[in-house]
Amino acid sequence: MKSVLRPLIAANWKMNGLKAEGTALAAAVAAKAAAGGTALAADILICPPATLVALVGETLAGSPVRLGGQDCSPQAPGAFTGDIAAVMLKDLGCSAVIVGHSERRGSCGETDAIVHAKAEAALAEGLTAIICVGETAAERDAGTAQDVVGAQVLGSVPETADAQTLVVAYEPVWAIGSGRIPTLDDIAAMHRHLRTLLARKLATGADVRILYGGSVKPSNAAEILAIPDVDGALVGGASLNAEDFWAIVAAAPQR
Ligand code: PEP
Repeated sequence: MKSVLRPLIAANWKMNGLKAEGTALAAAVAAKAAAGGTALAADILICPPATLVALVGETLAGSPVRLGGQDCSPQAPGAFTGDIAAVMLKDLGCSAVIVGHSERRGSCGETDAIVHAKAEAALAEGLTAIICVGETAAERDAGTAQDVVGAQVLGSVPETADAQTLVVAYEPVWAIGSGRIPTLDDIAAMHRHLRTLLARKLATGADVRILYGGSVKPSNAAEILAIPDVDGALVGGASLNAEDFWAIVAAAPQR
């Protein structure tokens, strides 16, 4: 099943950026998007750290580049010190939020049930939930990558999601920030597997965008983005440099 979905290139700045650099980076990306005009082949999203969401939102005003959060609480606003409710992201102009990134699944103990609840909270506010899944190196070596990632998707994706409100990001844990990526055949096989699972789980599941993430750079973006069923990329390190990020956006195929 080959997808023909418009690609999404999403920037995950993680815990990087103070006011001046965040503003400059967002402004540089917005300027490149403006220069690209209607010829842009991809949707573009920037997910800054929570401290910069408002400022980056102001910088992106009037730009086709969209704004997203990196995480949200599963709870409605209330007594949850340090947390950020989905409605607060929406209030700042976000249209999407990443949930279940492996750095949160790993260091914050987020289970599929927690990720599911966070995604539901995002959907309830009309935000697109970008649900991250991915196997560890040990799981890949043991030959269980598809089982592990499949279970994460089935456990994390809310039944109420659809192709408009859900994006799945396949990010092998061992590829994140490491400079290593799976073979193109392995990426293709995992995305095909995810497409099949999503099509079974959701009425519009076959049209859910499935991003690849993990060491995407200008030098490998074109070959990754050309893989069937790869509908874009979630970009960490390379999204902190406007030239590199834009080279990845420019590598997205016209669909
Ligand atoms: C990520 O953490 O979402 C990611 C894809 O990081 P990197 O591109 O740096 O591997």
